[in-house]
Amino acid sequence: MTDTTRDILASLGVTTDHSGAFDGTWIQTSGQRLETLNPSTGEVLGSVVMATPAEYERVVKSSVAAFDEWRTWTAPGRGEIVRQLGDALREHKEALGKLVSLEVGKIYSEGLGEVQEMIDMADLAVGMSRQLYGKTMHSERPQHRMYEQWMPLGPVGIITAFNFPVAVWAWNAMVAAVCGDSMVWKPSPEAPLCSIAVTRIAQRVLEANGAPAIFNLAIGTVEEVGEPMVVDSRFPLISATGSVPMGRRVGSLVAQRMGRSLLELGGNNGIVVMDDADLDLTLRGVVFAAAGTAGQRCTTLRRLFLQKGIAAEMKQRLVQAFPSIKVGDPLEEGTLIGPLINQTAVDNMQQAIATAQEQGGTLLCGGEVLDRPGNFVTPAVIDAPQKLPITCEETFAPILYVTEFETLEEAIELHNAVPQGLSSAIFTLNLRHAEVFLSNTGSDCGIANVNIGTSGAEIGGAFGGEKETGGGREAGSDSWKAYMRRQTCTINWGTDLPLAQGVEFDV
Ligand code: NAD
Repeated sequence: MTDTTRDILASLGVTTDHSGAFDGTWIQTSGQRLETLNPSTGEVLGSVVMATPAEYERVVKSSVAAFDEWRTWTAPGRGEIVRQLGDALREHKEALGKLVSLEVGKIYSEGLGEVQEMIDMADLAVGMSRQLYGKTMHSERPQHRMYEQWMPLGPVGIITAFNFPVAVWAWNAMVAAVCGDSMVWKPSPEAPLCSIAVTRIAQRVLEANGAPAIFNLAIGTVEEVGEPMVVDSRFPLISATGSVPMGRRVGSLVAQRMGRSLLELGGNNGIVVMDDADLDLTLRGVVFAAAGTAGQRCTTLRRLFLQKGIAAEMKQRLVQAFPSIKVGDPLEEGTLIGPLINQTAVDNMQQAIATAQEQGGTLLCGGEVLDRPGNFVTPAVIDAPQKLPITCEETFAPILYVTEFETLEEAIELHNAVPQGLSSAIFTLNLRHAEVFLSNTGSDCGIANVNIGTSGAEIGGAFGGEKETGGGREAGSDSWKAYMRRQTCTINWGTDLPLAQGVEFDV
């Protein structure tokens, strides 16, 4: 480990063999030791002692107690704590951004971007804390008043994926906090140090304000912490971000106990490029969306549909652009793509390229594994005939399948013919083409853009996808409603007791 890495970890209070469970204090955990590797070097970055089932139990009990107190705070009072948390993150932005780069291999500007997203979420949630509006409605009964109010829901279980090791927690945590919920975070085993650093920052803010321990942490295996949390009725809501197989399992377990789940799962995102598109703009949008973050975003562009008139030119531009993208150390200036998260991800990428070729695809460029320590690959472009089976799958790596089409209707049909439904885009300068793509019969995804790539969503909108992506919505707009319970109230201020629907029942 270099001195710089040691300094970054020390400045965030992350020590070796750090406790993996926080219930208001750091518990002396006694579970298995989890080592986290730097994907750029293969070196051990740190280690965490995971929570046992008994230690998980302590964390949940504390979260239940914290909820009991936190829900009595006013919503703007809760917002004030979140405002201070945003400020604390501003203070630690550089160090936390670097830790994201070290632990999951994102380039530094994306590491900083993640922390900025947390700060933005805090700012948004502070505003929300004064806008958790309910509706009032007119009663059909005289001298009656009806309204809806939104109440805190309870402890929330937050399960996060490796690829947004801090931002996804913030999408949930900032909003859940102003809504009056406590929460327990089970992070990805690939990024435990990020979760410890964030929890320590949040802990200081809570302690300084005498606030209950609403931001708890339980790092553990799926068997000892993950699934026990999913089946635990003390969590009215499980918010889970990750792959479709994980969501299928988590969603069905939560449904069996009649709990609520918020699922943010895999994508398989497409862009349609029309003959009339601005090709310079398109190229920039496509390259960032497909190769950026080493293809490890849920919104990464995986399928590119090119109208016949511009297909040859776009393919030529792509095979020139892709090899010029600098792959390397994510903390080195000029690097645009860091490593994949682990060796399995590298193997999966190699396997997907081989399968695509067996099915009739042609590798146009990239797809090499770099001969150096770390999990480095070059981004690949594959010429794919229509309906190549592999293009229905999400391979979490930088592989771009390029397919030609003739009409917009054909492109939309191809685009929608996958099980996932997260993000989509069209590049066109024709208003009608854009509106068709955005119409009821256009893209079937939760996100649909015009002349912007598929990745890099802003927090102001509700984020999430349809079909196997899970249907969840997080971040802005009215996503806060998932973290609250709705209550409809009717008040009779008269002297009679009329019944609804004209029912008579006189005794
Ligand atoms: P993953 O599914 O392997 O793991 C995600 C999390 O779920 C981890 O914390 C893991 O330990 C936990 N988990 C797995 N099985 C579980 C179970 N049975 N019970 C409880 N917890 C369980 O995903 P990953 O490899 O970390 O992340 C990549 C995937 O996440 C991709 O598919 C990507 O598209 C998706 N993702 C989606 C979004 C979104 O907002 N839609 C955002 C980020 C990532």
